[in-house]
Amino acid sequence: MSPPQCTDLATIGIKSLRARVEEDPDFLFKYIEEVYKIIEKYEGVIKAYITLRPMEEVVREAEEVLKRGTLGPLGGSLVAVKDNISTKGIRTTCGSKMLENYVPPYDATVVERIKTAGGIIIGKTNMDEFAMGSTTENSSFFPTRNPWDLERVPGGSSGGSAAAVAACEATVALGSDTGGSIRLPAAYTGTVGLKPTYGLVSRYGLIAYASSLDQIGPIGRCVDDVARVLSVIAGHDSRDSTSLKVEVPDYTQFVSEEPLRKYRAVVIEEMIGEGVDREVIKVLEHVVDKLEGYDIEVEFRSIPILEYSLPAYYIIAMAEASSNLARYDGLRYGIHLSTEGLLWTKTYAQVRKMGFGDEVKRRIILGTYVLSEGLYEGYYLKAAKVRRAIYDSFRKLFSEFDFAVSPTAPTPPPKLGEVVADPLKLYSLDINTVPVNLAGLPAISVPGGFVGGLPVGIQLFGPPLSEGVLINVARMVEVIVGYER
Ligand code: GLN
Repeated sequence: MSPPQCTDLATIGIKSLRARVEEDPDFLFKYIEEVYKIIEKYEGVIKAYITLRPMEEVVREAEEVLKRGTLGPLGGSLVAVKDNISTKGIRTTCGSKMLENYVPPYDATVVERIKTAGGIIIGKTNMDEFAMGSTTENSSFFPTRNPWDLERVPGGSSGGSAAAVAACEATVALGSDTGGSIRLPAAYTGTVGLKPTYGLVSRYGLIAYASSLDQIGPIGRCVDDVARVLSVIAGHDSRDSTSLKVEVPDYTQFVSEEPLRKYRAVVIEEMIGEGVDREVIKVLEHVVDKLEGYDIEVEFRSIPILEYSLPAYYIIAMAEASSNLARYDGLRYGIHLSTEGLLWTKTYAQVRKMGFGDEVKRRIILGTYVLSEGLYEGYYLKAAKVRRAIYDSFRKLFSEFDFAVSPTAPTPPPKLGEVVADPLKLYSLDINTVPVNLAGLPAISVPGGFVGGLPVGIQLFGPPLSEGVLINVARMVEVIVGYER
């Protein structure tokens, strides 16, 4: 099922697009025109893009892709890129006034790989400033609306990417996920979002938020598209020192409607506990019942330490952010003011006051606080220990099970304005996604059903490098919910 903006032609996935273009190259131009028609009609309200490339430019690039002699695995797909991923010659704002006019002189590794694989960058998508948020309302420019219900948020922080894909304003998108920013918007917009194992996808060219947690990953309308993009962007990169040296399979081989081997699954009690909507749990129960029909054993386990994952995550993320964002001082990066005669302290203060929004300021202040002398042991060090304990619990869990299944978000998407004013409410949307980042694990959110006409996402996660298993099971969930494309 697609939201009302989509047309049959525009919902096409990478596989069919590529096949159609191979048969008839002109089909690519028809497709591009159709997508731009949708954008013209709806983008004024949805506002998924901060920077949209003009159609002529995209058409010119499509001509070049067709001239190459090989279509590449992405076959002319239109890829929307979150605005914290560097694109050579295309403005990259990170959703912040601080970088409003920043045009990177180079491409992020993922962008380079997308282009080589025959993908075409269609534009840069809206996001919470510096990826800090869960609704895209913290963007310095404007909020993005959920294509399923324009009064509601698309989730965040990769809300622009998810909304663009859901509304068929792009074929697929790239997002980034530090504590849930790919999975939460995927869940809220009825799309599929995958956060890779930490280190599987290069972070070179990603504007850092919390470097030990950040990962780039794909968002698509179907599992097959996500598998295709992941196959392109994954793999070792010497320009990212945390990049894993592993063999990358063709992930499409895992897109199977049957289990590729016998799986054992686990539901973690803390992930369906207090704060999780009854109706959302019903959607999960339905999916779990059906998975059991595929001869997948499902058991329940409790991991009490997860109670501390939200505070641990926010302490670590803010601490890292306070250090990463120190470079925006108006001299090295950030808005340049004419500050002749001003003390450097005044210059810095002025630049940051003008360039950063409230949430970013709050996090820099709290992050500096938890790292300060005398407080470090009580906050940062404690959070680091909780992180280690969570990692160890998952390690043990996944010696027994192949994957875990949970609701991605505790509730359906909130209305605009409903949670953003209360930081604690806002942070609690991440309750089921942050443990996965703390442990560096891979996870996917796949549509599992609807509550009151709004999409509900199911999260599957597993041990490091289990992306293949997650893709296999996510494809089965698509079949369970009657998704056919
Ligand atoms: N909502 C979380 C935060 O604000 C996660 C954001 C993200 O994954 N980038 O930190």
